[in-house]
Parts: sequence; C-alpha cells; structure tokens
Amino acid sequence: MTAIIQVAVPGPFATPLDYLPAGNAPLPPAGTRVRVPLGNRRVTGVVLAHRQDSHLDGTRLRPMIEGLDEHPLLDGELLDLILWTARYYHHPVGEAFATALPGRLRHGHPATGGRSRHYTVTPQGQATDPARLHRRAPRQAEILTWLQSRQRITAASLATLEGDPVGAMNRLLDRGLCESHESHDYGLIEGRGEACAPRLSPAQQAAAEAIAPNGGHHTLLIEGVTGSGKTEVYLGAIEQVLAAGRQALVIVPEIGLTPQLIGRFQQRLNARIAVLHSGLADGERLNAWLAARDGQADVIIGTRSAVFVPLSAPGLIIVDEEHDQSLKQAEGLRYSARDLAVLRGSRLDIPVILGSATPSLESLANARDGRYGHVQISERAGGARPPALRLLDMRGQPTRDGLSQPLLDRVSQHLADDGQVLLFLNRRGFAPVLICHECGWLAECDRCDARYTYHRQRQRLQCHHCDREQRLPAHCPQCGSADLRPLGLGTERIESALRASFPDHPLVRVDRDSTRRRGSFEQAMADARRGETRLLLGTQMLAKGHHLPAVTLVAIIDADQGLFSADFRGPERLAQLVIQVAGRAGRAERPGEVVIQTHHPEHPLLQTLLAGGYPAFARAALAERQAAGLPPATAMALLRAEAVDRSTPMDFLAAAAGQAPGIQGVECIGPYPAPMERRAGRYRAQLMVQAVERRNLQGFLDGWLPRLATLPSARRVRWSVDVDPAET
Ligand code: ADP
Ligand code: ZN
Ligand code: ZN
Repeated sequence: MTAIIQVAVPGPFATPLDYLPAGNAPLPPAGTRVRVPLGNRRVTGVVLAHRQDSHLDGTRLRPMIEGLDEHPLLDGELLDLILWTARYYHHPVGEAFATALPGRLRHGHPATGGRSRHYTVTPQGQATDPARLHRRAPRQAEILTWLQSRQRITAASLATLEGDPVGAMNRLLDRGLCESHESHDYGLIEGRGEACAPRLSPAQQAAAEAIAPNGGHHTLLIEGVTGSGKTEVYLGAIEQVLAAGRQALVIVPEIGLTPQLIGRFQQRLNARIAVLHSGLADGERLNAWLAARDGQADVIIGTRSAVFVPLSAPGLIIVDEEHDQSLKQAEGLRYSARDLAVLRGSRLDIPVILGSATPSLESLANARDGRYGHVQISERAGGARPPALRLLDMRGQPTRDGLSQPLLDRVSQHLADDGQVLLFLNRRGFAPVLICHECGWLAECDRCDARYTYHRQRQRLQCHHCDREQRLPAHCPQCGSADLRPLGLGTERIESALRASFPDHPLVRVDRDSTRRRGSFEQAMADARRGETRLLLGTQMLAKGHHLPAVTLVAIIDADQGLFSADFRGPERLAQLVIQVAGRAGRAERPGEVVIQTHHPEHPLLQTLLAGGYPAFARAALAERQAAGLPPATAMALLRAEAVDRSTPMDFLAAAAGQAPGIQGVECIGPYPAPMERRAGRYRAQLMVQAVERRNLQGFLDGWLPRLATLPSARRVRWSVDVDPAET
C-alpha cells in the first residue's frame, strides 16, 4: 500500500487533494508546505494529513514535487482552527489556508525572517546635545534623545513616532549623528515599559478581576463608554499574562490600529511588540508572523487576519472595538475575526476579552444568555464628564450647505471659548448628486444603480461603488444646458462652507480623498491633538478610537442618512456611529457637547439613545430582533449570485431554493435582488437562509451547497455563501 498525503491547495476544492509523496523522500509532516502539480501549474499547498489509500485510482494520483519546510509551519492547533474555519464558512479549504498565511509563505518563499533595519547613534551623535539641534527639528531631537539612552532603535519603533520620523532620521544620518544598519532580525517594536499604571477605578477594578488571566477559558465582554479606561484594563491583563511568560494577541479594526495605541502599549509594556496589518510590506508581515510563532514577540497587535497568527505560548486574546464591521471579511473567506477569536480562545483554554463602548447585539445576547461574562464601565476615567447629547430639529430651518444657524452659533461659541470642534458627515466628495437644473438629468454611473458623486476639487465625477471616474461635463448631455448643480452634502462641501464662515480658524478635513498621501492621516490627527487644528471635519475615519482630548463640540451633520436603512442592522450601525462619534467629545476635564442634526427628532431610535444611551438602545433593539426572528435570535446565511444579465442570478437562486433539504426550523427567503442590484456592471441577487438553531443551519448548508455546484445555471453565475453575514 502506498502512503498518500492530503494537501490543501488553492482553488475551488472543498476538501484537500491526494498526492503521492516524492520518490523515496520521507513523508512531509502535517503542517508543512509542499509544491504540487495542479493541472499544468505548480502550486503551493499545506499538508493536512497522511493516509494509507485514496478514493482515487492509483494511476490518477500525481506525485508531489518537493517539500518546502523541514518542520511544520503550522502546529496542530492552527491547522485545526483553519480547517474549522473553512468548514464553518463553507469555503474551499486551500483558499482558507491562503487567507490565513502571509503572502510570502502562500507563494512558497522560505519561512525564515527577512532582514530589517535599525539605527544606532555615532560618537558624534552621543556627544551632541539634542536641545542644540535646530529649533525647528523637534523630531530629530526626540530621536537623538532616545538613541542616546537606548543606543538602538528599530525601523518599526521609529515608524511609531508622530510626524515624519523617517525624514528626521534621514537628516540625522546626513549629519553623521546616527548610523543605519541592516541585520537579521524580526524588526519588532521595543516596549519601554516606563509609564506607570494609574490606580484603577472601582469599575475598572471589577473588570480586571473578572478576567483572571492565566485562569482558563472564559469570554468577558467589557462594555465601557469611550474614555472609561478599557485600554488600561487590557494593559493590566496583558502585564499579568506577560509575567507568566505567555503571549497576548490583540485584534483591532483596521482604523483603530493607530500609532497612538501602539504608542501606549510601548510606553507601558516592557515587551517586544509585533504589529500585523495590511499596510506592511510582505517581508515585515512575515517577520511579525515568525516572531509570534517563535516566541520572539510577547504582544501581537494586528487587524482581522492576526486571528490566524501562530502563537508559541498563547495566554490571552483581546478584541478591541468588537462591534466593528471591519472585523468581518467581506469577500473570499468571509470570517469574523471576533467569533474566531472566541473559538480559538476556548480551544486554547485561555481568556478572551471583547471590548467596546457599543457592543454588537450578538455579543450582548451572548452575555445575556450567560455564555460571556459582562462588565459595564459607565463612567469615564479620571473624572472626565460624559458629553450631553442634543437633537437639533432641522425641519423648516434655513440651512447653508447643510449647516443650520443654531449649529453655526454653537460652533462660534465653542471656538470663542477656545474649544475644538469636530463635525461628522459620512460622505466624501462635494455632493452625492449632480443634476441638470433645466431638464432634471442626473449624472449616473453606467455600471451601477448609483449616482456619481461630484468631486469639486478634482473636477471629476466618481462612482463610490465601482470607482469609475469621468471628467466633469460642461453641459448636460440630455438638453445641453450648462446649469448643472450639486445636490446634497459631502465633506468637501461642508469644508468650503466652514471655511467661509470661520476663515480665521485652522480646519482640517479627514476622509479618504484628503488622506491619500502616506502618513497624512497620522499627521492630521497629530495636529489635531496638539490643538493646532480648531475645526475637524470628516467621515468615519474620525469616528473611531482616536483620543482628541481638546474636542468640546461634536456635530453629526446628517443623522437621517442612517435612519431608514434597508439592512436590518441599519439601526444598530447608526446607534454605534452616533455614540462613537459623540465619544470624541470632552474626554478630558472639559465637558463636551454633542449636537445631532435631524429631520426626525421624534424617531424612537434617537429618542431611546438620548434618554438611555447605548444600553437602552441595545435592549430595545434586541427585543425587536427577537420579535422579528432576526439574528442574534436566529442564525443566518446568505447565498449571493451575480452575472452580467439580470435574470440569471435570480434563476440560479430559484433553482438553488428548489434544492433545499427539508430541515425543521430552517427556511429560505427569496430570491430577491440585492439592495443595489447592479454594481460594477453585474446584476446581483440573494437568497436568505434563516435557522432557529445554528446547528441546523450548518447541517442545512452541508447538505445543500454541494448540490448547487451541479446545477446547470451555476456555471453562468458567480456565487458565494456568507455565513453570519454582516450586510444583508
Ligand atoms: P478607553 O479605551 O475606554 O477609551 P482609555 O483606557 O483610553 O479608555 O482611557 C481614557 C483616558 O483616561 C486615557 O487618557 C487614560 O490614560 C486615562 N485613564 C484610564 N484609566 C484611568 C484611571 N484609572 N485613572 C486616571 N486616568 C485613567
Ligand atoms: Zn439637462
Ligand atoms: Zn459605479
């Protein structure tokens, strides 16, 4: 009998493929990578197991080409986690591995640390008084001071400094005060561990005691208002884990991964910190991954995919801003990093902390049902007072580019009192619509069911759904009129209105357009924190996690956008956004004020939020979901299909519904066109599957999905399944 190796290869295969070992070489162990033939290509796969025989006839089996790793790259725990993920999200197993591995490893590069750069101080630099560097070079002085005491700084640590640390370092190198070196090293951030922990408030203390690091698995939901000191609680737990010689994995949404958070970890923890996110170069990513696996990193901070990082001595997993939608991957392997973190923690028998000021209803339901511990911290740390929320009724109000007079008055007042003002509008560009005033023609994207957004600065029309752009037309293509007018509000428009009203106050706009240049977002936030900027205007880039202690007034320019969403999660998202944006105000001694402009001040969602805050909203929303039989009261999956014509996706989904196995308590709803039916030139439709029990949903999908591939119409659509969809 021949030994067979089972290999997860990239491609649409639900299960691993069988290969013969190469010649007389020893069998490659499970968890190593191998190069194997696939069709007429050679691909990199991961060995999952060995078997004595294959269901394939021996003559059809092909031998592997070569083994790539001497020792397993992935240990049993991680192999199992990835296999579980592929099964639960019904995604091809090889693709799940491809998602979990850093790019270099996926492409067959050796699993060895790359080179990384660090800097040292020269004797001349050691002898230079940093205070005597040019007055306008504070960053150079900061770096020199650091190097004089620590001798060495890695490029990763350097990058955590504010401003333009790389430029400053280049000037220090030019002056001969520093030297640059390349070495074989993981390029970790070196924690300094010099800041002391504050004395915890009683509520923080209660949270800290509920964690019991090193005490086996439990999941704790920390629901703490913005500024309540959740990060301090995390840091305390991490310190205990580190003291026991274990590692902490901290997962944050993309935007929360700011130099600020890393900076705080660095100040407080005497630890080696690895950072993992999509902004890194491939080599840096691999370094961080290997550092975690080899036990070189004590703390790993990363975005979504960090949930798949190998850990040599796992001790604790933290998911910050656990409600954030970016923790769920929206394409390919549609996994939830939060849910996988909880699963992984339970398999590793280590604690998991989920933290948020506005927890997801899923996590709140788990807490209510006793599956998670739950602590609330309803007071701000250090005696800071919570902001007062106020609705501003827009009905009948004269407005100037979306800003009502009462709002402009409040802005003037706060500026006069030396406050800082933050205005939030979740739409970039000048206006979401361009209309012909003569004939009513609208500038529409020809690939989507959507209007073009008018970008005045660039003098272009851009579709925010498919990114198609075109020059601004000089005349209406329908009637030839030159009277084309912007309709509605975008951040560019608010910016010009604010500049006109407050010409003497420095303003910065923060959105994807204004922060294209690398580092410009960090720079804008640093200017804001130093108080140079008086008016801050932006999209949700501004809403998340940033500490802006000088902000005294927060204005939500248009709350109505979110009130009438088609998605059942619309109200939850809006409530989270309002509370998150509001949380930017008055973090320090000054109490903040939050003004919400709306045409629907009587709307129950806004009323509940105002009267009882997020907890009251969440209670009401959970009861509504329960009554409507929606998640988290039930389990859900979506089958999505798209094609270049309108009817094929609907036909395919109808045929799919016809194949549904009859399982008690599981029902199909639809098919129906997606909320934006046409996007990027393709028509989209979906079929919803709802189940009273999660277990039954999985059983249903197991029986159903394999049948779909055999449907004749399956070949004419692109289809995918989304388990626990974040967007419906
Ligand atoms: P969160 O993560 O909940 O938004 P942070 O941990 O960032 O809150 O705390 C908000 C601010 O309060 C920070 O500046 C932090 O240093 C400070 N802080 C936190 N806990 C305490 C405490 N117990 N005593 C004094 N200041 C604290
Ligand atoms: Zn016209
Ligand atoms: Zn488009």
